[in-house]
Amino acid sequence: MSPMEGGALAKKRKPTTTMDHQTSSSSASVDNNYFNVSHNHVTDNNKNKKKKKKKRNKAKPKRYSLMSYWELPEYMKDNEFILNYYRANWPLPQALFSVFRWHNETLNVWTHLIGFVLFLGLTMVNLLRVPQVADLLGFFARSTPISAVTNVSRNFISGIMTTNLIELKQMTSQEMEIAAAGHEMGGVAYWPFYVFLGGSMFCLFSSSICHLFSCHSHPLNLLLLRIDYAGITMMIITSFFPPIYYIFQCDPRWQFIYLGGITIMGVFTIITLLSPKLSSGKFRTFRALLFASMGLFGIVPAVHASIVNWGNPRRNATLVYEAAMAFFYLTGTGFYITRIPERWRPGWFDIAGHSHQIFHVLVVLGALAHYAAILVMLDWRSTFGCDNNNTT
Ligand SMILES: [Zn+2]
Repeated sequence: MSPMEGGALAKKRKPTTTMDHQTSSSSASVDNNYFNVSHNHVTDNNKNKKKKKKKRNKAKPKRYSLMSYWELPEYMKDNEFILNYYRANWPLPQALFSVFRWHNETLNVWTHLIGFVLFLGLTMVNLLRVPQVADLLGFFARSTPISAVTNVSRNFISGIMTTNLIELKQMTSQEMEIAAAGHEMGGVAYWPFYVFLGGSMFCLFSSSICHLFSCHSHPLNLLLLRIDYAGITMMIITSFFPPIYYIFQCDPRWQFIYLGGITIMGVFTIITLLSPKLSSGKFRTFRALLFASMGLFGIVPAVHASIVNWGNPRRNATLVYEAAMAFFYLTGTGFYITRIPERWRPGWFDIAGHSHQIFHVLVVLGALAHYAAILVMLDWRSTFGCDNNNTT
C-alpha cells in the first residue's frame, strides 16, 4: 500500500459515539501509527531501492549507446554513407574500452593497431639481430687515434654488441680488429632503416589512437586528426630515408638533395595540415592529393636509381617490391577519396568493409612491401661497398 492510499482511507472513516470515539480514536491513533509505520517502511524501502540502484550504477558503468549519422554533432559528420553505429561525446574510459565493442570504428582501430604491433615486432627482431649500437661505438673506436689499451676495450664493447657472447669468448683482440675492419668494408649504417620503422610505427599508432578517441569531444577530435595527418606525413617522409640513403650512398650530393627535398615537402605538409579548416571532410581530396604528391615525388629518385644501378640484378627485386608498395598506396588513396563501396550501398558497410578500413589494410601492406624492398637494399649494401657498385 502506498502512503497516499493510507491517508485517503483514514479520511473516509465514519463519525462515531463517545465510547466509540474513544475506542475509535485510540484505534485511529493505532491506525495512524500503523499508517505512519507503514509510510516510514515504504519510504525506507524506496530509499534502500535508490541506494541499491546507485550501487548498481557504480558497479556497472553506464553502457553508452550508439547513434545514427543524423543524430551526430556536426563535427563528427564525416561520411554520410556510413549510417549507423556511431559513438559521440563519449567519456575517455568508455571510448577506451569501446576497442572491445562493435561500432563503425572498431576495425579502423584494430587494422592499424595490428599493423603497429607487426612493425614493433619487426623492429625488435632487427634490433636484436643487427648490431646498431656496436656499429656506432665501433665507428668511433676506429676513426679516432687512441691508445692500444682503450682501442682493445672499445673493440670489446663493440664486440659484445656485435656478436653473440659464445663467439666473443673465442675471439682474440686481433681477431676483433679484423672483424671490425670487415664490418667497415660492408660499411652499412642502419639508422635510416630504423628511421623508417619508427615513422611507420608512429603513423600506425597515432591512427589507432585517433580512431579510438576522436569521438570524445570536438577539441580532442581536431587535435587527434592533426596528429593522424602528421603521422601519415611522417610515414611518407621516413619511407624515403632508407632507399635514398642506400642507393646514393656513394654519392652524398644526391642523398642531400633528395632527402632535403622530401623533408622540406613533409614540413610544409604538416604545417598546412595543422590548420583546423583542412581537417574537415570537405578537404578530403586535397589532403589525399597532398599525400599522393609526396609519394609520387619518389618517382624522381627511383628513375635516377634505376639508371645508376642498371646492371645490378637486385634492382629488379627492389623495383618489384617498390611497385607493389606504390600499387597498395595508390589503390588505398583511391578508396579513401571515392569512399567505395559504402557510397554504392549506404548503411551496408557500417561495421565492416567500408573504404577507410580497406585504405588502412592497404597502408599496412604498402609499408610491408617497402620493408621487403629495404631488406634487399640493405643486403646489397652490406655485401658491396662503393667500389663495386654495379656488380651482382
Ligand atoms: Zn584512418
